[in-house]
Amino acid sequence: YPFSMEDMLDVKRVGSGISGEVYRMVHNPSSIAIAAKKMLWQHDTWEEQRRVLMDLEVMNSQHSPFIVEYYGSAIVKNEVWVFMELMATCLDRLLKRLKGPIPERIIGKMCVSIVKALDYLKRAHKVIHRDVKPSNILIDVNGNVKLCDFGISGRLVDSKAFTRGAGAAAYMAPERINMSHDSKGYDVRADVWSLGISLVEMATGSAPYKFNEFSSEFDLLTHIVQAPPPLLDEDKFSPNFYDFVAQCLCKDVDERPQYDKLLLHPLIKEYEEKPVDVGEWFSEMCSTHGIP
Ligand code: ADP
Ligand code: MG
Repeated sequence: YPFSMEDMLDVKRVGSGISGEVYRMVHNPSSIAIAAKKMLWQHDTWEEQRRVLMDLEVMNSQHSPFIVEYYGSAIVKNEVWVFMELMATCLDRLLKRLKGPIPERIIGKMCVSIVKALDYLKRAHKVIHRDVKPSNILIDVNGNVKLCDFGISGRLVDSKAFTRGAGAAAYMAPERINMSHDSKGYDVRADVWSLGISLVEMATGSAPYKFNEFSSEFDLLTHIVQAPPPLLDEDKFSPNFYDFVAQCLCKDVDERPQYDKLLLHPLIKEYEEKPVDVGEWFSEMCSTHGIP
């Protein structure tokens, strides 16, 4: 890939998370603004480098309108830089700026994109996302919603569920908590649960499980396993939306639907057809709430 760090201008940090830091930069030769995520090697071994390069290869083969486009990467000393499409912001930041919920009709439209992205990863590439949460759902200036951070970020920093840190625990499916120490058989339906938790957060403006409301991560995880799932208020949302979320949040993984079934759900059917202008809503939010 024709990307080298020397070609990058106007580097500005736009975000930081558990797995790295994200910068906005301009690729000087093409004058295109892009995003770059900086990550660190865990162990600087030859096998690890080979595995990461293979992951980058996988990322290079994902082409979907619902997935953030990958442009290439650069390895500089102990850093891996992943260059990608620049988006306006993520849903986590958007929610923080709104200080309240996203309207149901907007979430319905966003939900179609997210489910199609997850289905695409699984069906076309046998990739399971493993870190579905509002900060990994991005929106561009035109209101297109796309998924990011699959594959590479998981491989680079996290080999066990519990090393992901506080942010990820709140979205973790009950069956993942129960089997967290044997890594076999991660099922796509754990991502469906995380999607359900994310949808509740978008619809209510507040995460159903908040890390700081528990005395430890263990308490939070115990609560997820023991408490009933955090369903929406039936009076405030349409039956389709309520039911979609309830299905995503089936605690029993065997009863939770996979993507083929979710894609046939009346909510998805409804919003595939309904003309809802997410771009118009987003630019209105940008001007009234100062986003990003
Ligand atoms: P996390 O997902 O755990 O919050 P990340 O390091 O993956 O941490 O991302 C940090 C932040 O950078 C995200 O929350 C998002 O707001 C921003 N970001 C990530 N990728 C992009 C991108 N392609 N374009 C614009 N902003 C991005
Ligand atoms: Mg992320």
